Amino acid sequence: MFELSSSLLAHEPPYIVYLRCECGAEIDVDTDNFEIVKDKYVVLKEGITVTCSECSRSQPDDERYIPLENQHSGNLHIPTCPTCGSTKIEKISTASKAIGFVAVGVFSSNFGKTFKCKQCGYKF
Ligand SMILES: [Zn+2]
Ligand SMILES: [Zn+2]
Repeated sequence: MFELSSSLLAHEPPYIVYLRCECGAEIDVDTDNFEIVKDKYVVLKEGITVTCSECSRSQPDDERYIPLENQHSGNLHIPTCPTCGSTKIEKISTASKAIGFVAVGVFSSNFGKTFKCKQCGYKF
């Protein structure tokens, strides 16, 4: 259920691998927990359980091979930033939209926009 979001930081301190849960949350996992760390995939060590901090679901024991996201068709619906093409997108919650509306009293810049790019900050 997890997919490899990025292993770029695995090659230098703090030696972190980013995994993306199917709920959209991204968690960071120490490279000590992996048997193999490559750019395109990682393999979990036996006995290691990775659990999402958002939805509490865990990677199944028999699925230790975690491929880079967007490598298979099941993932094509994940939105990407129209400006920089990044997949590091976060959903702007309706709560923060409402707060923006009340506080400013006019349509805030978030209104009507659903996603925000964590890479460049673009809202769309
Ligand atoms: Zn999750
Ligand atoms: Zn962007």
